[in-house]
Amino acid sequence: MIRSVLIANRGEIAVRVIRTLREMGKRCIAVFSEADAGAPHAALADEAHPIGPPAPRESYLRIDRLIEVALEAGCDAVHPGYGFLSENADFAEACRQAGLAFIGPSPESIRAIGHKLNARTLLQGKVPTVPGQFCDIGHAPDVHELEREFGFPFLIKAASGGGGRGMRVVRTAEGFARALSEARSEAGAAFGDPTVFVEKYVENPRHVEIQLLGDTHGNVVWLGERECSIQRRHQKLVEETPSPAVDAALRRAMGEAAVRAAKAVGYHSAGTVEFLVDRDREFYFLEVNTRLQVEHPVTEMVTGLDLVREQVRVAEGEPLSFRQEDVAPRGHAIECRICAEDPHQRFMPSTGEIAGYELPGGPFVRIDHALSVGGKVGLFYDSMLAKLIVWAADREAALDRMARALREFRIVGVRTTIPLSVAIMGHPEFRAGRYDTGFLDRHAGELLRENGNVELAALLAAALEYEQKRRGAPLPAAHGNHASSGWTAAARLEGLRKGP
Ligand code: ADP
Ligand code: ADP
Ligand code: MG
Repeated sequence: MIRSVLIANRGEIAVRVIRTLREMGKRCIAVFSEADAGAPHAALADEAHPIGPPAPRESYLRIDRLIEVALEAGCDAVHPGYGFLSENADFAEACRQAGLAFIGPSPESIRAIGHKLNARTLLQGKVPTVPGQFCDIGHAPDVHELEREFGFPFLIKAASGGGGRGMRVVRTAEGFARALSEARSEAGAAFGDPTVFVEKYVENPRHVEIQLLGDTHGNVVWLGERECSIQRRHQKLVEETPSPAVDAALRRAMGEAAVRAAKAVGYHSAGTVEFLVDRDREFYFLEVNTRLQVEHPVTEMVTGLDLVREQVRVAEGEPLSFRQEDVAPRGHAIECRICAEDPHQRFMPSTGEIAGYELPGGPFVRIDHALSVGGKVGLFYDSMLAKLIVWAADREAALDRMARALREFRIVGVRTTIPLSVAIMGHPEFRAGRYDTGFLDRHAGELLRENGNVELAALLAAALEYEQKRRGAPLPAAHGNHASSGWTAAARLEGLRKGP
């Protein structure tokens, strides 16, 4: 029985994990960097401990410090969230050695299947993989040999990669040397491992992934798929389930392939097997994420399962409480990641201070966030501020609900991806379910024009509201559950400062 858990993370995922732990009656111990003193996750926990300066390397990535705090605070388990140390086998190992239950898979599983190259070696013949080749660092591969094997285009990828970094598409022999050295140095800087490999670049595929759950008694089930093809820089922005491109036969084939992959390493806890699906509806293994995924809430909405609760139960040694036949997803769920980025500036992170915000509400709307008025949005951490998730009986109703909720969502102080998401929800190709990982690039022009219109409309509404207030005219009642007195004025100032 786990009684007290250290949450080795920050932001919305730390908040989300704490909420389930509290429902289960567990004590929650948060950690925070100097940039996060008083942050929502620290305020919500039963105890919060400082772990160092803002830079992740000096705080959220400090294995020694995290273990020390966990032991001092009397914890018996650690939840790693996603990102940071969540896929770090050394961290899982250090927890085990300190007598702390790691709420995730074993260090052996992480090593065997969390690493992109180890995984494809292990899964050769078990699961369809994109044709690939190991390309050791120091060894200068012959581009003509690669061309003979794959044909152009091919892709250079970081073996320890994540978050879409360390990837380069190669379309000509001339472009190869430069792409290789860029990929290596980006991978070295981002992941401390410059190892890269090469695989065939699938043109405009769909990204479809399978959610898995396994226990320590050898049971593994799959919980349906998530379609995550709306991406910028190979990073997801919108996710939905079920996928408009997947029928029952393909779903089952992918689900069973994912279970085979997990069983090959005796996998337990939550995990995700990512696949690419090409135009002929062939699917190829991409990678396994050995952790909770950012987009896990869409699966929760259609299955009724709380994946963090299941992770905790598995870590307590309980067998899964249901079987594959019991999994019966219902309706449609969609998530928009709300990021502090400017789509007009090639998604550059937008920094500043949250001057105010209003959250959407209404039936079947879920918001996972860690926003706070006065909170600083800097460059030390991921740009994602919140996730908006909605459920409805069918896809069309879910898209309408999402568009409505997005229009209610206001964040003042930084630029966000909210207006772009509104534009995506209204795009005819997206509404028809005809999209792939090239969608955002292909439709950038129209989407950004619409993005500008939505932003302008919001600014005009704020200006009108201000004008009415100045004249002493009665205002329509504020909506949303976080309407703060200062926010309208802040919106105005922000609008004036930035211009439409
Ligand atoms: P998901 O499929 O869950 O969206 P992502 O690849 O987008 O997976 O990564 C989830 C989060 O973890 C993002 O916030 C991303 O920036 C972060 N992340 C991914 N890989 C790493 C890594 N190796 N080191 C640090 N952060 C990472
Ligand atoms: P990360 O660890 O950064 O999440 P992934 O291997 O999961 O890396 O790839 C991230 C995204 O990059 C995919 O969702 C897809 O859009 C694109 N991608 C990766 N590999 C390929 C490939 N071989 N062909 C085409 N697109 C790819
Ligand atoms: Mg991935």
